[in-house]
Amino acid sequence: MINFNEAPYTGKEFEFIKKAIDNKKICGDGEFTQKCNQWIEENTGITKALITTSCTHATEMAAILSDVKEGDEIIMPSYTFVSTADAFVLRGAKVVFVDINPKTMNIDENLIENAITDKTKAIVPVHYAGVSCEMDRIMEIAKNNNLMVIEDAAQGIMSSYKGKALGTMGDYGCFSFHETKNYSMGEGGALLIRDDENVERAEIIREKGTNRSKFFRGQIDKYTWVDAGSSYLPSELNAAYLYAQLEVAEQINEYRLKLWNRYNTNLKDLEQIERPYIPKYCVHNAHMFYIKARDLEERTRLITYLKENDIQAVFHYVPLHSAPAGKRYGRFSGEDVYTTRESERLVRLPMFYSLQLEQVDYITDKIIEFYMKGN
Ligand SMILES: *Cc1c(COP(=O)(O)O)cnc(C)c1O
Repeated sequence: MINFNEAPYTGKEFEFIKKAIDNKKICGDGEFTQKCNQWIEENTGITKALITTSCTHATEMAAILSDVKEGDEIIMPSYTFVSTADAFVLRGAKVVFVDINPKTMNIDENLIENAITDKTKAIVPVHYAGVSCEMDRIMEIAKNNNLMVIEDAAQGIMSSYKGKALGTMGDYGCFSFHETKNYSMGEGGALLIRDDENVERAEIIREKGTNRSKFFRGQIDKYTWVDAGSSYLPSELNAAYLYAQLEVAEQINEYRLKLWNRYNTNLKDLEQIERPYIPKYCVHNAHMFYIKARDLEERTRLITYLKENDIQAVFHYVPLHSAPAGKRYGRFSGEDVYTTRESERLVRLPMFYSLQLEQVDYITDKIIEFYMKGN
């Protein structure tokens, strides 16, 4: 069976975890946490990065830092993971869903202004498949309407828009290091903080509302409870696992791009399907390779056919506005022209660091075979 995903492993993970144990420091903010934070800062150019227990938690931190409160409205696509909405709903906000651009599956920036009301607090662009949203336009709309921008860059590490790393353009950016992402620590994420004046409060919220980070830097004599916060620090053991991959991030990225390009080339003459579209100004990270079948019925048969041939392919998000919680906490702005229709066509193919090029060839052969059989 070719699995849909396997956790990334590069070889140094055990050594680094042992080092963390030898350091006799396995709680948060030890050597490896610092190394990961620093790696993100150096490689994205962000003012401050803090690794967290998940991307969901990084988004929650961004919601707290943005003072999102009961009755606020948050604009986002419906075609996204539940976490994008959860983080704001937990603070009492309403979600306002906007349709996607079918070419990229990202929020359609031209529909955002219509969704803005006097309650709107923030725009949350989701960079699907590590391909950037139209950030210049989104930042302009946010500026004109005095809105926060929180980038769900869960899939976007190592990707860029006009030379800027994803997650660094909005007020806050959120990365995921879940097992299914390009670099992993099992469960984990990072919050990227653009503006210097928000760094101190972010550190406090992450450390249960205390100024413990300052204390450890020797800036104060004792630490105390100064704000409402929670525990968003990952363990050093997880950070050690992650650092083993960040150290060779370029190598992982190159290999993933090789796999992605192989899929893309092998399938380029298959007219029955659509392949991902990468806008000119975007550099992507090969987070995902997806294809689109004609419709839901064809997609179901294709996934079954691949499964019969020992290939695990999966569909992706069920649009949030059609889910029970989505109906309770959100509304769709305007018409759902593409969100449901395009989500029903999309199939994600296996994509992970230990996948072999020959396996990609096998998978694309089977897809071509499916269509040659008259499907
Ligand atoms: C994976 C993912 C998340 C959640 O990440 P966790 O680290 O599992 O919390 C959020 N948004 C998107 C778009 C994702 O792909």
